[in-house]
Amino acid sequence: TAKAAGKGECRFYTQDMTRAANEKLSLRQRLVQALIQGEFRLHYQPQVELASGRVVGAEALLRWPQADGTLLPPDHFIPRAEETGLIVPIGRWVLREACTQWMRWQANHNVTLDLSVNVSVRQWEQPHFLDEVREVLRETGFPPERLILEITESALLADPEDALALTAQLSDLGVGVALDDYGKGFSNLYQLQRLSVSHLKLDRAFIQSLPGDRRARAIAQSAVTLASGLDALTIGEGIEVQEQLDALLAMGCPLGQGFHLGRPVPPEEFQQRHLMGTRPTR
Ligand code: C2E
Ligand code: MG
Ligand code: MG
Ligand code: MG
Repeated sequence: TAKAAGKGECRFYTQDMTRAANEKLSLRQRLVQALIQGEFRLHYQPQVELASGRVVGAEALLRWPQADGTLLPPDHFIPRAEETGLIVPIGRWVLREACTQWMRWQANHNVTLDLSVNVSVRQWEQPHFLDEVREVLRETGFPPERLILEITESALLADPEDALALTAQLSDLGVGVALDDYGKGFSNLYQLQRLSVSHLKLDRAFIQSLPGDRRARAIAQSAVTLASGLDALTIGEGIEVQEQLDALLAMGCPLGQGFHLGRPVPPEEFQQRHLMGTRPTR
C-alpha cells in the first residue's frame, strides 16, 4: 500500500541519513586516529628561481596514506579537519614536522632553502598561534627567516585587524607570509597595502592560460608589478609547461612552482632529486 511504501521510504531515508552521519563521524574519528597514530606524511614541492633554475625553497604538502596503499590528498580531508577544529592540532604537527625535516636536510646538505608551510584560517585565528610558532622555532632550532607561512587571500583578508597585527608580529620574528592562491578571491587592495606580506602566490588558474590568453597575461603581469612594489616576491603556481615558465620570466616573475619544475615528493626523494647536487657551503 501507499502507506507501507511511504513508511519504507521513510525508513530508507533515515538509514541514508544515519549512514551519511556515520561516514562523517567516522572521517572525524579517523582523523583523530591518524593524528594519534602518526599516520600523516608531508610531501615537498620545489620552489624555483626562474632565471637560474635553482631550487630555493620547498612547500610542505600534507598527505594521508590509506590502508589500501593510496595517498589521500588534502582536499579530501582538510575541509572536514577545518569543520571539526582538528586542523589546529594537525597543523601544529605539520609545522613541527616540516621544520624538523628541514633541520635534517640542513645537517646533511648545509642547504639554505626557504620552507613554506600552509596555514588554515582556523589555526591562524587561535589566540596562541604566534606562541606556538615561536615554540616550534625554538624547539627545532629552525631559523625564522627561512620560514614562510602560506595563507589564502580570503583568510588573510577576512579579519583585517587581526591579520594586520599577526603579519606584523610574524615579520618582527623574521617569518615571511605568502598570500596563497592570489587572484582567486577578490583582493582587498587597501588591506594589502597595510599588510606585511613577503610573497604573492599567483594562482594556477592564471598560469594555465599563459601565454596565449591576453587577459590572463594582463593579470599575471599586474600581480608581478604589484608584488614588487610591495617589496614582495611573486611565485607563479602550477607551471606545467616551458611556455608558461617563459611567459612568467618575461614578466619579471622571480619564482615558480609546478609539475614542470618538480612534483611534490616524499622527503627522501626531495633530497635525492633536489639536494644531492647541492655543494656544502662553508
Ligand atoms: P596550495 O597550497 O595552493 O598548494 C598547491 C597545490 O597545487 C598542491 O596540491 C600541489 O600538489 C598542486 N600543484 C603543484 N604544482 C601543480 C601543477 O603544476 N599542476 C597542478 N594541476 N597542480 C599543481 P595539494 O598538495 O593537493 O594541496 C591542495 C591544497 O591543500 C593546498 O593548496 C593547500 O591549500 C592545502 N594544504 C596542503 N597541505 C596543507 C597543510 O599542511 N595545511 C593546510 N592548512 N592546508 C594544506
Ligand atoms: Mg600553498
Ligand atoms: Mg596555492
Ligand atoms: Mg590552493
